[in-house]
Amino acid sequence: MLKAENLHKVYQDGKINLEAIKGINLEIKKGEILCIIGPSGAGKSTLLHLLGGLDTPSKGKVFLEGKDLYHISEEQRARIRNRTIGFVFQFYHLLPDFSALENVILPAVIDSSSFLKAKDKALRLLKLVGLGARLGHKPAQLSGGEQQRVAIARTLINDPQIIFCDEPTGNLDSERGKEIVELLGNLNREGNKTLVMVSHDEKIAKMAHRIVHIRDGRLKEVK
Ligand code: ADP
Ligand code: MG
Repeated sequence: MLKAENLHKVYQDGKINLEAIKGINLEIKKGEILCIIGPSGAGKSTLLHLLGGLDTPSKGKVFLEGKDLYHISEEQRARIRNRTIGFVFQFYHLLPDFSALENVILPAVIDSSSFLKAKDKALRLLKLVGLGARLGHKPAQLSGGEQQRVAIARTLINDPQIIFCDEPTGNLDSERGKEIVELLGNLNREGNKTLVMVSHDEKIAKMAHRIVHIRDGRLKEVK
């Protein structure tokens, strides 16, 4: 489903070149749950962004379902990102001035779905994540766990095949974290979503089919 070949990422910080990713090869199968662990600054988020089409590698390739993500137009990549790839972040990244329902509808409207169809689906997804009674709440009126549920519903609106999660429970207490992990596990088992997660959460490591360790921009298989 996803294949990275000899990925490199160099950040230019003034006159200094920082090599954040140093030649990573990785293959992810459809339906797999992959967990990426490693110390702070190891390159976890950079790798996730490169795999998910959010950043450009300095060298190397990423193939998603056989398509070379970084050798197509920006427009084609945005289309693939919107229709195939989902992202869930540690700090939710919801739009503060919009309600839960509006946050979930928005990506579908950007992808030019009909508004009524998108609204219908957003309502269904918010019910699925247990927020049927919080539709009109803005992010500031929701708990962290609830905001992450909205973010998950938002990522599901365009039916992604693969969901990248960057420390999805990193900002939640253990009970709220457990609920999010269960929700993600269900999306894998019942929704057949491929999950690629950066996390230090034991519950996520336990659920993962495979764990890789990243250190100083290089990967090592662990489980
Ligand atoms: P992790 O998610 O594992 O904590 P990151 O992928 O965020 O690590 O960062 C890896 C390295 O790249 C770090 O040294 C970080 O400072 C650097 N880095 C990340 N993003 C940028 C950027 N936009 N510009 C310059 N350096 C960056
Ligand atoms: Mg990070």
